[in-house]
Amino acid sequence: MTTRRIGMECCACGQLFTSDSSFRKHRVGLYGEPIYDSKKQVDGYTKHTRTCLTEVEMLEKGMMKNEKGLWTTGEFDASAFAKEA
Ligand SMILES: [Zn+2]
Repeated sequence: MTTRRIGMECCACGQLFTSDSSFRKHRVGLYGEPIYDSKKQVDGYTKHTRTCLTEVEMLEKGMMKNEKGLWTTGEFDASAFAKEA
């Protein structure tokens, strides 16, 4: 792990993001949800499908990389302009 403090790195795909919102935008799919049987007992879990978007998919969603190579949501992102060191 590097110690650079700009943005955040996804430990799954290694992409860098300017903010929590852009990070969340690249994560799609569902966490495993409990499935209950008729007695309201947990009978199992749905498939865990949480995954990362690829670069192409992120671009299709309107996300953009900034000049530092960090992904932004592509929308106005106040945190991207917050206290630049
Ligand atoms: Zn990722």
